[in-house]
Amino acid sequence: PINQKPYDPNLKTLVILGTGWGAATVLKNVDTDKYNVVVVSPRNYFLFTPLLPSCTVGTIENRSIMEPIRHITRHKSRDVTVYEANCTDVNPQTNEITIQGFTDVQAERPKTVLKYDYLVMAVGAMNNTFNTPGVEKYACFLKEIWDAKKIRQKLMDCIETAAYKGQTPKERKRLLHMVVVGGGPTGVEYAGELYDFMTDDLRYWYPELVEDVKITLVEALPNVLPMFDKKLIEYTQNTFKENSINILTKTMVKEVKETTITVQDENKNLVEIPYGLIVWATGNKARAVTEKLRSKISKDDQSSPRGLVVDDYLRVKGVKNIWALGDCSVSKYAPLAQVAERQGKWLAKALNGIADSDSGYEDVEKETPFQYTSYGSLAYIGSDKAIAELPIFNRSLKSGGAATYLFWRSAYLSELFSIRSTAFVMYDWAKKTMFGRDISRE
Ligand code: FAD
Ligand code: NAD
Repeated sequence: PINQKPYDPNLKTLVILGTGWGAATVLKNVDTDKYNVVVVSPRNYFLFTPLLPSCTVGTIENRSIMEPIRHITRHKSRDVTVYEANCTDVNPQTNEITIQGFTDVQAERPKTVLKYDYLVMAVGAMNNTFNTPGVEKYACFLKEIWDAKKIRQKLMDCIETAAYKGQTPKERKRLLHMVVVGGGPTGVEYAGELYDFMTDDLRYWYPELVEDVKITLVEALPNVLPMFDKKLIEYTQNTFKENSINILTKTMVKEVKETTITVQDENKNLVEIPYGLIVWATGNKARAVTEKLRSKISKDDQSSPRGLVVDDYLRVKGVKNIWALGDCSVSKYAPLAQVAERQGKWLAKALNGIADSDSGYEDVEKETPFQYTSYGSLAYIGSDKAIAELPIFNRSLKSGGAATYLFWRSAYLSELFSIRSTAFVMYDWAKKTMFGRDISRE
């Protein structure tokens, strides 16, 4: 048993919302000798999102990239309270939040109120559908572990239904048409994983279906991966072409129905396309709790619908005692795991520094403001190839191919949250190489 100090009424209470990149990093680095800490999150685990696309086809198993949050809290010097709940409201006037838990069948528990001295908002963002009709009802997203689980189930459902006796060729083609909407890194990495599954596994186990399989990536802009260098965009698009992944650029999805999508092509014509599985990856939108807090603050301080505008010390503009980081915050940095993680480290250090001060929220200005320089960008594009853009000696190194894929693998292995996760992911990769992906339906 680990002996942890109990709650101390003389210390400030730090409430952390979330268990993602930002929140888990604050939690890991904050000194619990100096604070009573409470964590509130609907997820009782941290999720390593960069490897989430691999879970959609079983390259990696879900639990390998999930880390129970109690693996962190149990090793802190003071007992940390964890509530599995959503924060539904923040009251910056009274320094209180409202939380609501739920049972495993998603029935709601009664709402309850918690007091904080300092609040850390790290609730991330939700999927943006741009109110496109039918998306919520028929499309799968790719943000959480249950999204990956749903995609894997639907994929196998399409495949087994296509293989069923008496299936018409037209219906088989529809079921095996996999559509990805959004050519950002999420959409591209998922399309790459899907291609691997189709060529490595489907070809072997369902040879009669392989001719009818088609993957289409739909992107509204003139090219995929707009945040990457032109050469790497070209490399990705050429690799997709070689792999027969159909890219429809300058094409916007306007509606999703049960078995078809309606797209507007570059000539503004509306075209209906049949599909079996659709994955929607068109970026982020602020969560309800973020929006609610934003609406309580003057528009002069909070003018961005993307989230909570923060200053150089990650303080939410227009309120006191609330910090925000990661995808729910708005600063000059992109919504990335590497940004949220570095913000988390900075904030924990700053919080440790101001713990004893009564005017800590103001005193944080004695710290060096948060600054971020990118480690570079990496993305997997399928067929054992990755692309990378890395800052080296004030220059940007760009590379793509199989060697970059090995670098991609080692970079993510070293970034995983624990030795346990690293071991699980290495085991999954070895298992896939030896036996292929598991195609049984759960
Ligand atoms: P999250 O990590 O999303 O965590 C938010 C937390 O808040 C979660 O625990 C959630 O359960 C909790 N929460 C939600 N609502 C509430 C509420 N009401 N109350 C309390 N808690 C709440 N970035 C990179 O830099 N490199 C990559 O390779 C990369 N790959 C990605 C791959 C995929 C498929 C996706 C979807 C994203 C990827 N990203 C990557 C982006 C990265 O995951 C995000 O930028 C990062 O997760 C942001 O961290 P965060 O802490 O702000 O939010
Ligand atoms: P994104 O915002 O990066 O890309 C979404 C894409 O969808 C855009 O290119 C947009 O033009 C397109 N789009 C929007 N509406 C559309 C429509 N109706 N029809 C067709 N296309 C449409 O979103 P993402 O890929 O989900 O990424 C979210 C964040 O997470 C980004 O900051 C990204 O950099 C980060 N991320 C990084 C990595 C990585 O570094 N490897 C991986 C995944 C995500």
